[in-house]
Amino acid sequence: MGKFRLTMACQLGEKIAEEAGYREFPVEPLAIAQSKEITVQAKPSDVKGISGALIFAGNDATLIYSNEYDNLGFENFCIAHELGHYCLPGHPEEIIQQGGTHLSRAGFTQNSSIELEADHFASGLLLPTGLTRQFLGETQIGLQGIIQLAEKAQCSRTAAAIRAAECSPYPMAVIVSQGNEIAYAFLSEAFKNLGKLSYLRKGSPLPESATLNFNGVPENVFAVRQQCAETNLKIWFDGMAGIKLDEEILGLGKYGYTLTVLSSDELADDPYEEDDEEAELEKTWTPRFAYGR
Ligand SMILES: [Zn+2]
Repeated sequence: MGKFRLTMACQLGEKIAEEAGYREFPVEPLAIAQSKEITVQAKPSDVKGISGALIFAGNDATLIYSNEYDNLGFENFCIAHELGHYCLPGHPEEIIQQGGTHLSRAGFTQNSSIELEADHFASGLLLPTGLTRQFLGETQIGLQGIIQLAEKAQCSRTAAAIRAAECSPYPMAVIVSQGNEIAYAFLSEAFKNLGKLSYLRKGSPLPESATLNFNGVPENVFAVRQQCAETNLKIWFDGMAGIKLDEEILGLGKYGYTLTVLSSDELADDPYEEDDEEAELEKTWTPRFAYGR
């Protein structure tokens, strides 16, 4: 599965949201699906283990989504994922070829190509780059900004965190771990520009200092550490120790996954960031604490 196809899937999601007229959050995948004359139904509660389905029968398409967790963010992602199968080139053909019924299992855990593409479509649809970047530029740096983004966009915190790292206008790294092992990591472009960084491999251990932080986070519970720890680029990425970072962690509430966000108010005013003169001038008049924390 090429990274290119995933990027294309994400961009198609963004395009569909834009064509549907969304210029602000939240994008509503249910309304978009209905506007495409897809029959949308909630999944019967006795059907377990799937997050959604897309069924082609004759000229009709039926989209089924899970609402069993009573979680709007999860529902939106499920609907957006199935909408992806409807919209992405080649997906309807593949589904029809396999008998017309496609069953999906929820988000970012799959390895099959159409599942991954549908997940990327969904995150592009719910969190278009422009809207996400703009929102992050106007809210608090770091974990609080991600939580606010998830609320505003009515999507899961995991999806918001991943897209935040992809779209962030400032240096930010998002690391998802399970137990003491790294599951995956996303770095914003501005973060990558902080210097030569070692690659965080799946399955490699968290830095020892970060491991200690996990003591305070109960598994399967949403927990935000009130006080964030200070770390630096050397501890996590073998980069420059002089670059200080705030480290914030959040339990993701399922399977013991934990989200770590590395960012910094200081680095947010990256001198390399492209900025027009007017914004620069405005910045000098805006007290630093306006970013708040
Ligand atoms: Zn699927």
